[in-house]
Amino acid sequence: MAVIGIDLGTTNSLAAVWRDGEVCLIPDKSGNYIIPSIVAVDTDGNILTGYAAREEELLAPERCASNFKRFMGTEKCYHMAGHKFRPEELSALVLKKIKEGAEEFLGEEVTEAVISVPAYFNNDQRYATKLAAQLAGIACERIINEPSAAALTVRREEIFGKRKEEEAESVNTEDETEEQCLLVFDLGGGTLDVSIVDCFENIVEITAIAGDNHLGGADFDKAIAVSFCAENNLDWEALSEQEKTALMFEGRRCKEALSVQETVTMTYQRDEKYFSMELTSEKLFTFAPGLFRRIRNIILRAVSDAGLQLLDITQVLLVGGSSRMPAVQRFLSQLFGREIAASAEPDFLVARGVGIYAGMKERREELKDIIITDVCPFSLGVRVQGDLADGKGKMCMMIERNNILPCRVTKYFVTTSEFQEEVPIVVYQGESYHPEQNLKIGEFCLSVPKAPAGEEGVFVTFTYNINGILEVFAVSNSTGQKKSVTMVSGFGQLSSDKLTEKKEWIRAQQYLLQEEEEQKAILSMAERLFAETSGAVREYVDQMIQYYNYAWKSKSLVQIRKAGKKVLQGLLAVDMQLKQSLFDQEILDEKFDWEEEEE
Ligand code: AMP
Repeated sequence: MAVIGIDLGTTNSLAAVWRDGEVCLIPDKSGNYIIPSIVAVDTDGNILTGYAAREEELLAPERCASNFKRFMGTEKCYHMAGHKFRPEELSALVLKKIKEGAEEFLGEEVTEAVISVPAYFNNDQRYATKLAAQLAGIACERIINEPSAAALTVRREEIFGKRKEEEAESVNTEDETEEQCLLVFDLGGGTLDVSIVDCFENIVEITAIAGDNHLGGADFDKAIAVSFCAENNLDWEALSEQEKTALMFEGRRCKEALSVQETVTMTYQRDEKYFSMELTSEKLFTFAPGLFRRIRNIILRAVSDAGLQLLDITQVLLVGGSSRMPAVQRFLSQLFGREIAASAEPDFLVARGVGIYAGMKERREELKDIIITDVCPFSLGVRVQGDLADGKGKMCMMIERNNILPCRVTKYFVTTSEFQEEVPIVVYQGESYHPEQNLKIGEFCLSVPKAPAGEEGVFVTFTYNINGILEVFAVSNSTGQKKSVTMVSGFGQLSSDKLTEKKEWIRAQQYLLQEEEEQKAILSMAERLFAETSGAVREYVDQMIQYYNYAWKSKSLVQIRKAGKKVLQGLLAVDMQLKQSLFDQEILDEKFDWEEEEE
């Protein structure tokens, strides 16, 4: 029975495990480490995840769900092909796929996982992640913050590298691995987390965290798509959901291409008309100044919370797909006044870290001396009667942000009204003085004997555990009556029958075989290209469909794999050409108009 680490990303997910003294990423049967975090229901009612679902998304976005990690811990409901899904159920479907893949790779049952979440995930989001694991049939005792996982990877490699050197030179320098102050900048598909990490010897200590759960690559895709419309006199608001998805998809493709080329041409066809726009990193700054401003503010807050200045940071570690954007790297270089370059394999840093943590959970000998500590990303408190006349009360902070985890704080509160019968305990997360400007994460009441104001009271204890989940305990001073509540708002309170029913449904879902999923993805792409092309190119696509179907009829796995590779290459070439020709066509159209004018 294995414990694995899972990086459950907004856009992509990965898994890793500790084996033979090393962290090892877990590939699927085709050798891919990355699984797109997308779920689709195909026309036959099959549940698809990963690459097959990603291709389906282009054809029929109404049958697909992506970016659902952004809505973990909320009441959001996705409607797809007659099914209703909550974000944690969609995540469970991705987790189940990962679990099954890992079991096949490892040849043993996977019963437990360490799962990474954005450091800035709140109580509900963390709880929803645990619930998703439970629905997928995985025990998740430990949640780890993504930047902490990335820091763990880097530190572990430094320590490991040092020991190897020592072994080679047969010396022992008693863990003199340099002291470092890391800033982990994790910009993913939907979230930004900035963590300050103090590394000394084998201790990885997170000292401050700041972030935004709604700032990531998808916001840049949208900014590009909206600016594309503005430049081409298209009304973004008037576009259909499918058109918006297609434009954002194109925006994302161009944004990603900017990490390998200076200028990219974004094209789009609508009602027989071709639209285009040149995109550069400089232009991206002007499209999304607000996003860059928010990034800067979050960095400055994390650094100042750690009691540091930008100059004190010895290394900036770039994590998450969106940190590949040259615009982001240039922006950070300017802010820090020195060159900030991409980390090696930024997509894998978090996954490797959770894999290492899974090894620590399995009590692997090689990892026994590594210590990692984390902090609470936001302040937690209760509403108390304020001195303001509006009666809305004020915040009384119980646990301040950046307290080391786990932590426990107890405070005593007295009654404020004459003969009140109960004390309401309303819990908030956030930094504002005004409770209503913070996020309410739960409430309950404790009965107290009737008495004049100030005579009765309750002790309230907040316990914030290493997974970042809060338990609130209250006890009456005079009667000893007590109540303990795990703070989760309404969404998580599923009855145990409902939970079992959902678990059973997810367990019963049979994914298509890897080859069938590949077939689906390839055929969906081929059908899309068939619809988008004409003449000889369309015939070529048709031939590829026939060739691929023929390979399937042979029932030989080797033939199917070979044909799949060949057909995919051909289709990708057609896709590229198509995008280029849309642009060429637009130039032709312009030329044609000009010639007409000349006449
Ligand atoms: P993650 O959540 O860490 O998997 O990051 C996914 C995000 O990274 C998506 O918004 C991608 O568009 C973005 N991304 C991935 N590769 C690149 C790249 N080369 N350039 C810019 N953005 C990228």
